[in-house]
Amino acid sequence: MKITRIFAHRVELPLHETTYKWSGGKSVTVFDSTVVGVETDTGLVGYGEVCPLGPFYLPAYADGVRAGLRELGPHLIGEDPHQLTKLNRTMDAALKGHPYVKSGIDIACWDLLGHATGLPVCELLGGRYGADVHLYRAISQESPEQMAAKVAGYRAEGYRRFQLKVGGNPDTDIARIFAVAAQLQPGDRLVADANTGWVQHEAVRVAKAVRDVDVYIEQPCLTYEECLAVRRQIPHPFVLDENIDDLGILLRAKADLAMDVVNLKISKLGGLTKIKQARDLCVSMGIGMTLEDSWGGDIATAAIAHLAQSTPTEFLFSTTDFNSYGPVSIADGAPQRVNGRMAASTAPGLGIIPKLDVLGKRVVVVE
Ligand code: MG
Repeated sequence: MKITRIFAHRVELPLHETTYKWSGGKSVTVFDSTVVGVETDTGLVGYGEVCPLGPFYLPAYADGVRAGLRELGPHLIGEDPHQLTKLNRTMDAALKGHPYVKSGIDIACWDLLGHATGLPVCELLGGRYGADVHLYRAISQESPEQMAAKVAGYRAEGYRRFQLKVGGNPDTDIARIFAVAAQLQPGDRLVADANTGWVQHEAVRVAKAVRDVDVYIEQPCLTYEECLAVRRQIPHPFVLDENIDDLGILLRAKADLAMDVVNLKISKLGGLTKIKQARDLCVSMGIGMTLEDSWGGDIATAAIAHLAQSTPTEFLFSTTDFNSYGPVSIADGAPQRVNGRMAASTAPGLGIIPKLDVLGKRVVVVE
């Protein structure tokens, strides 16, 4: 099988809650997502999706996905999409860095491999664990009272894991953590995700103020070293996210005992092939994981579901159903949340059929 064409659609994903806000006053109202198609000489087409969390979260931006596809695409025409490790080496040789550009192509090639073999991607990624996986709900940054008031509604949707967006004013963040923690019921889990927003002394101060609260602290500061310094001074279970973007830093963090859980995102690592490496390594090293992406619609959610459900249950801390945060559906067959959980499709590949009328015209074509 050979790749004959790579194309992309641009799709806007608004939010039911109109705005998603996190640390440092950052927010997004409409997500700019890129759906990537990889077409082959057999007529089979595989799909992937890449959606940065705006241009100010990771070193990634929406137009960069499309520009990168135009740059990288010509190097991949004629390559075999089933030889995924080799294809990733070809991508890395042709374009240094820019993992998010490669992510959509790699996901689409896993989708193709699934269609060619008749197997769902989760089975190809190592095997299906359990009937479904549990989801977390991100709580957009608002006042402590507003954030606490959201918990009951999310729990009514079945969520039992809540990721509180903090990383703002430390005193307000302390109030946010206490207010939301007061809403929790037995079995709920709470993560306070600062998304790099605190400086080191503020992070230590916030954590010490909520010393007796059952809460995980996620990525308090900008740098790995600052996070490690905080980690060593506080009692809470600790999650690293933004700093962990390749195997080198993952191994260093394990050696430093720098985290209890790591948040791995498909496009941050560069696709399913590379996140599978990191995921399998975490299982071998005994590290729990939140497995997700920066954002996305139905196709990104399908890829996340296959990754999450192919992970041994005890190592999967949580995962995300981004396709339930907004009203726009871009594919049939994507996982749907049921009682705060979702299941990867049992159909071949990702198990999705893109809605071409929603996706509109192709904005990138390389052939
Ligand atoms: Mg995070």
